[in-house]
Amino acid sequence: MLVFEKVIEITNFLQSQNGSVGFVPTMGALHQGHISLVEKAKSENSLVVSSIFVNPIQFNDKNDLHNYPRTLQADLAMLEKAGCDVVFVPSVEQVYPEQEVEGSYDFGLLDRTMEGSFRPGHFNGVAIVVKRLFEIVNPTRAYFGEKDFQQLAIIRRLVEILKLNIEIIGCPIVREKDGLAMSSRNLRLSAEERKKAVSISQTLFEAQRRSRTMSVPELKKWVDSSLQASSGLSAEYFEIVDPLTLQSISSWPNGQAVGCIAVRVGDIRLIDNISL
Ligand code: AMP
Repeated sequence: MLVFEKVIEITNFLQSQNGSVGFVPTMGALHQGHISLVEKAKSENSLVVSSIFVNPIQFNDKNDLHNYPRTLQADLAMLEKAGCDVVFVPSVEQVYPEQEVEGSYDFGLLDRTMEGSFRPGHFNGVAIVVKRLFEIVNPTRAYFGEKDFQQLAIIRRLVEILKLNIEIIGCPIVREKDGLAMSSRNLRLSAEERKKAVSISQTLFEAQRRSRTMSVPELKKWVDSSLQASSGLSAEYFEIVDPLTLQSISSWPNGQAVGCIAVRVGDIRLIDNISL
């Protein structure tokens, strides 16, 4: 496995390669969720490139950026074991050589709800870094987790806006044995918080069962009160949305709906979602 820190090195290497490139961008502190993307990329491409870069401009909360887990040596070992071919581990200066980071995207209504409303500027920061990484890696396909459901919709839209010839592949959520969605931020939960956090996925699984019998407003109410009752946690939001537009729906559609939740557990903000 090759590890590059400099843009010039990775671009020179990739330009000398033939065949399809599958790209998995990450912020490190890797877990099986990330590895599932690498494995999928491996099964569909000649070469797999992953990146590890904690993107400062997508953090609206300085503490979250400061405390974001960094486990580079373990990450590289996991990527190597998963058969990743190339890892790009750039510094902030390599990704953003200019002092001023530019770019402002109009995602319509896609970023005005949920994560977009609670984390101002977040998706613009994600879009800027993903565009930059796409320019550097020039992938055939790029792999993103459905865990970050809204992010996946934003990336699909970004590719349309920029008219990029990159196939975006969404991959299912990987969960811990007890159901908690895997997340790098889980590393920061105390033992007690970790116990409480399992209520998030348990509530979503039960919501999926109840969606057969309850109306949309009933189910939303039920999720809020049952999460509170089982764990004392309260959702920052729980929205039932159309999977394409991400707009809230008030009654069940003929097709799919998705329940998206964000919950603060102590200082740590966790997100999850489930199809309903
Ligand atoms: P991150 O390092 O958190 O920026 O995540 C990098 C990629 O891994 C994103 O596309 C995430 O959606 C994806 N990812 C994170 N957690 C999971 C998970 N539990 N299951 C599947 N994909 C995930």
